[in-house]
Amino acid sequence: MIIFDNHMHLRRDGRYLDAVKEFIKAGGTHFVLCQYPMTQKVIEHKSYEPIYQETLKMAEEIQKNMDVTVYTTVGPYPVDYLKLIDVLGREETIDLMKKGMDQAAHLCEEGHCIAIGEIGRPHFPVDPQVMEDADQILSYGMKRAAEVDTAVVLHTETTTIAQCEQLVHMGEKVGLASDRIVKHFAPPLIYQEENFGLIPSVLASRKNIEEAAFKGTRFMMETDYIDDPRRPGAVLSPKTVPKRTFELLNNNHLSEDELGIIHQENPEKTYHISME
Ligand SMILES: [Zn+2]
Repeated sequence: MIIFDNHMHLRRDGRYLDAVKEFIKAGGTHFVLCQYPMTQKVIEHKSYEPIYQETLKMAEEIQKNMDVTVYTTVGPYPVDYLKLIDVLGREETIDLMKKGMDQAAHLCEEGHCIAIGEIGRPHFPVDPQVMEDADQILSYGMKRAAEVDTAVVLHTETTTIAQCEQLVHMGEKVGLASDRIVKHFAPPLIYQEENFGLIPSVLASRKNIEEAAFKGTRFMMETDYIDDPRRPGAVLSPKTVPKRTFELLNNNHLSEDELGIIHQENPEKTYHISME
């Protein structure tokens, strides 16, 4: 049985391989390694390329050593903007982050990554100017994703119905289909009229997943595990997605076929991958 976590971060100075071990032991088989924000390194190199390469290297290392399939996403982390701007100024920050979109798009095109992400907006209140710039950079990233026929993984402020509509519309304007837009850290907004066709990656709390499963199967599950030694087990621990999945199965909330839609069919369609 395929069990897929759509959003995990790992750090070499965190639990790293031990965290993956925990995921596998609980029944996990596939996961997305989402590039860890490494803002200092971006500033140091004035480029995203080194941290993209570092993320790919980690994925390769994990895959070589463990019985698990790792997919990678890379992209200019939205919150970087606020630190970059102090060092580089506004124009150069926007340029650097757009270039980060180009480099990520290139890695997707070459088959090294399955999506550009996580990209989007800061998740806390910011000045209107910051929001405007974030939207400009995001829209550019969506355009690049459409051009190389890949997906985007979005990090934004709290997900609402109105926001989903706005994000789908933003994609539409630059030719990116709604089913290639993944909303990371989503609540169970499963219905078309709630998400406007984007694909929710639902944070795997018990409450979220039970509600999502009650409503349907068009979603993915994630822990947003951040592997931060100062916040152990945050956001959710690596074993959570397998645990929830077996709960749904054992409580007869969903059948194995329905779980197959969530863990295999949805990721395969969204990312254009084959998980067998
Ligand atoms: Zn994340």
